[in-house]
Amino acid sequence: MSNLDLKPTPTPCGGEADSGPIKQLLTGRLVQLGESTEVRRLLPNLGRRMVGAWCFVDHYGPDDITDEPGMQVPPHPHAGLQTVSWLHEGSILHRDSLGSLQPVRSRELGLMTSGRGITHSEESPRQHARFLHGAQLWVALPDAHRHMAPAFEHHPVLPTVTASGLDATVILGTLDGATSPGTTYTPLVGADLTLREGASHGLPLEPEYEYAVLSMTGSVDVDGVRVEPGSILYLGTGRRELPLLARTDASLLLLGGVPFEEHLVMWWNFIARSGEEIAQARTEWMEGSLFGEVHGYDGARLAAPELPPVPLKPRGRVR
Ligand code: MN
Repeated sequence: MSNLDLKPTPTPCGGEADSGPIKQLLTGRLVQLGESTEVRRLLPNLGRRMVGAWCFVDHYGPDDITDEPGMQVPPHPHAGLQTVSWLHEGSILHRDSLGSLQPVRSRELGLMTSGRGITHSEESPRQHARFLHGAQLWVALPDAHRHMAPAFEHHPVLPTVTASGLDATVILGTLDGATSPGTTYTPLVGADLTLREGASHGLPLEPEYEYAVLSMTGSVDVDGVRVEPGSILYLGTGRRELPLLARTDASLLLLGGVPFEEHLVMWWNFIARSGEEIAQARTEWMEGSLFGEVHGYDGARLAAPELPPVPLKPRGRVR
């Protein structure tokens, strides 16, 4: 997925984390992606830029796309990050400049590591299921790995954790001793939690991680705070267990990681360390060859928006 804002605002990320457990319920904002897809953007949020290295979270659907093209995101570049495609319903056809042509289906991991630069497109197949429901997430790469060669991984089978009334799929990182095969570059976790109505569970956490939870469907009390689709609950650090009580059948995404200390500049589809790097990446996309080419997408690639008139500067985490 691409950030299709015509005037993307620069987003400073990173910096000092709050210490200790807190509960901060943050409302997402509705963003139009192309002609047919509206998403709930939960990160970055006015109240919180990152959770561990997780720095971008869009939740979309469930949308009835019976008579619609569904998701159609033309070729666009990324740098300095990993993208995670996660679906509950429907599927997305991923193409990239490495030559990947991969359908990503419900509860399969599509993990693209841009490193220094990659181009990809994402589309609902022409013959598609009625509903499209999923999330697009980005993970910031640490400085030591952000210049690496690009890579794409598809993991159709992921480890699961089961408890009474709860089924968890580990998307990235480790949860309760189960580790995803997806490659990570900072200590983090992403997990999909399916809860039956009435289920009550204490989910084991890492005290040095910060965490947040969002609902894909249904209503869950998370440490006593009602979480429903459209918002994300930031939980801070210092927790060994997370109390969950499902008010309805529900599914949650749990995101966590060691607080990301490096200062970043996020602009459009790039993550860098300075405004100059962002401007270089934009020029490279418009005029250069670094990002490569996607083959087989029926349509033109995306043009980069204009840079904002003020210089982009990396800053610490601010509210
Ligand atoms: Mn993308």
